[in-house]
Amino acid sequence: MRAAQLRGIGQLALRDLPDPVARPGHVVLRVAACGICGTDRHIFHGDYPSALPVVLGHEFAGVVVAASEASHSLLGVSAAIDPNISCGSCVFCRRGDVCLCPNRVALGVDLDGGLAELVEVPESQVYSLPAGFPVELGALCEPLACCLRALDLAKVAPGMSVAIVGGGIIGQLMVQLVRLAGATSIVLITRQYGRRKLAEQFGATATMDPRSVDVVSTVTDSTGPAPGGVDVAIECVGAVETFEQCVAMARRGGTVLVFGVTPQGETARISPFEIFAKELSILGSYLNPLTHGRAVELAASGRLDLAPLISHRVGLAELPDMLAHGPEPSEVKVLVTPGAV
Ligand SMILES: [Zn+2]
Ligand SMILES: [Zn+2]
Repeated sequence: MRAAQLRGIGQLALRDLPDPVARPGHVVLRVAACGICGTDRHIFHGDYPSALPVVLGHEFAGVVVAASEASHSLLGVSAAIDPNISCGSCVFCRRGDVCLCPNRVALGVDLDGGLAELVEVPESQVYSLPAGFPVELGALCEPLACCLRALDLAKVAPGMSVAIVGGGIIGQLMVQLVRLAGATSIVLITRQYGRRKLAEQFGATATMDPRSVDVVSTVTDSTGPAPGGVDVAIECVGAVETFEQCVAMARRGGTVLVFGVTPQGETARISPFEIFAKELSILGSYLNPLTHGRAVELAASGRLDLAPLISHRVGLAELPDMLAHGPEPSEVKVLVTPGAV
């Protein structure tokens, strides 16, 4: 089978690898689509730890084409895969915080993942997609599951105001999710015009270009969309500057949610007095602990507009070039279809 294997930092190559076989408790999936995410670029550049060599790709869906005897009932099933495998027995797992498991491994990071024609997956990670649901959209369930975790933590409730900084796939999913949760003022901040238009289509009540306005005062002024500050500010860029903006935009008693992946080692300036006097909650949201099933349910329900989020479709051959460069301005989600020639 063909696979995109990372052999060293910056060294991604298409390779013919032996077809995986399904060990006990495992299935083999024929990958219909695998999403590319910022984490893949971080791994490619050596900014995020991974095994080497490893087949990348942690956002994928496909059809089960082989199964061990114990997993036989899954043969032929279309499925979205939760790539994060926790140990189930450490102190964190045993209290339900599976994303904090120190023994966690991930498909596409520590184990071979979905940027391949075939991939072996533990049965515990398989989430069946309903009949009639486009399998390739199943690849969006992983980022969606991470967003659900974030919203669970942020406790967005009807009537709230929410600012979302960053207009990539995460920002666009967040707009749709906070709208579903009943937020009435939804501000999306991003430099790209196309992403602002997309967010407006999905229910953003205001969008802003941070290069043309002072974001904090424009949002929080008495004439702005959230006078005095937003109930919840969600950082979806992964940059110090946008994190600091989120802290400044949150109202008294508000919540800042740190979702974007800022490079390890970077530090922000933050006033302990401001946290104290405004009673700010600053929360981190990491991965998709026990939210993958809900992501599949929500995707299958048709209550989200997922198809317009796919901005590019490419084959495996285009990957090395794609990962070596930053995302194009028009990029929202790139889906790789490993079966395509
Ligand atoms: Zn990802
Ligand atoms: Zn554990």
